[in-house]
Amino acid sequence: MTTQPDILIIGGGFAGLAIAYHLARRGAKTLLLEAERIGYGASGACAGRAQLSESHRGLHMTLALAGMARLTQLEGELGREFEWRRLGNLMLIQQSHHWHWWTEQVAYLQDVGAQAAMLGPDDLAEAEPHLRRDGFLGAAWCLEGHLNPFKLMWAYADAARRLGAEIRQGVRVTGFRRVARRVLSVQTDQGQSVAAARIVVTAGAWTGKLLRRMGVHLPVQFTHAEAVISEPLPPMLHHHVGLANFYETIHNARKAVSIGVAQQKHGALLITEAVEQTPYIHRANSAWGLPDIARELLALFPALTNVQLMRAWAAASPFLPDEHPGIGWIPGLNNVFTATCFHNTITTIPILSEIMAQMLLDEHPDIDLSPFALDRFKNGTGATF
Ligand SMILES: Cc1cc2nc3c(=O)[nH]c(=O)nc-3n(C[C@H](O)[C@H](O)[C@H](O)COP(=O)(O)OP(=O)(O)OC[C@H]3O[C@@H](n4cnc5c(N)ncnc54)[C@H](O)[C@@H]3O)c2cc1C
Repeated sequence: MTTQPDILIIGGGFAGLAIAYHLARRGAKTLLLEAERIGYGASGACAGRAQLSESHRGLHMTLALAGMARLTQLEGELGREFEWRRLGNLMLIQQSHHWHWWTEQVAYLQDVGAQAAMLGPDDLAEAEPHLRRDGFLGAAWCLEGHLNPFKLMWAYADAARRLGAEIRQGVRVTGFRRVARRVLSVQTDQGQSVAAARIVVTAGAWTGKLLRRMGVHLPVQFTHAEAVISEPLPPMLHHHVGLANFYETIHNARKAVSIGVAQQKHGALLITEAVEQTPYIHRANSAWGLPDIARELLALFPALTNVQLMRAWAAASPFLPDEHPGIGWIPGLNNVFTATCFHNTITTIPILSEIMAQMLLDEHPDIDLSPFALDRFKNGTGATF
């Protein structure tokens, strides 16, 4: 890019790439800088599930429903396939308080037009014949979606480039030149200084660290999450299968394992996740993660005893203390926007990214995202702007 970009985006995961596409579509001169390569962060580590069933009521559900509708026609819009398919999710229930919660949630999902139902133990045996028979009260079923996360990112990146956006990989932002309430330019590890009218930080778990370099403290936290993939198998799983206590198990735990598993298009089982709280961001696998995932998986599906696990990986998954996304202009700065810590990222990003592009270009946004604005951290939450 020989002239100054209108908008400079930092981070090439789902968020940065989808925003770049929508900005370029609107004619904004857009430059995206990615420190490593597309998908290096959580977006390249994720399970590809387009979630709907766990959505909170209100804005989260509005975004998830709109995002799901958008996903069903997104391959056509972007001009590249990303293995999109509708896939049922089975949330396995072992405890009665989960049964009550999910019964209410399924009624709510039905009210908002989603396809969902409670299944008893007999239905469960029919739905997933290889699942252990004992120990489940049943499951909550919901029609969701599934895709290949790398192919989704490449589809956004290709479409953005076709529309004139520039995406540079292997360029790390190392600092900022801030004068009063504006960030005038970013410094890179290539020794360049790149000026831009507006800057967007979509650096996932690294967002907090980057913002600190412009004098802003936003309490972005993260967990270290590991996932595993098996050898390809003949068709055996018909749903994404997860445990109803998944988030209860992994949230706030120093170390924990809970299972979510789906069979990929080419037959492999992708299994998440072992989580650990770590003091810094890294991508190494632990000694305990893979064996613990394998043990929990076998407890659910004894028929998998001789299946080979092929590869494991790990990434940092960011969250804010109130567990809602952080989306909007940084208070105290006139030209820096951030978007991080999403819910149901794959489902919502196709719609959120368009709204964020509207906000960045001073258009009237289709949906009001002010509940996710960062000024909620202004008072007594450890944030400084
Ligand atoms: C194991 C696992 C499974 C998951 N499964 C699902 C799922 O099934 N469905 C779902 O919706 N979500 C899932 N998630 C969550 C989802 O992956 C994340 O919410 C999402 O990927 C976040 O996207 P992002 O673009 O905000 O961040 P990231 O994908 O982390 O992208 C941030 C990018 O910024 C770059 N960057 C950082 N610092 C700099 C710098 N200084 N200069 C330039 N670039 C920089 C990084 O290299 C990275 O590529 C999962 C997460 C994990 C870890």
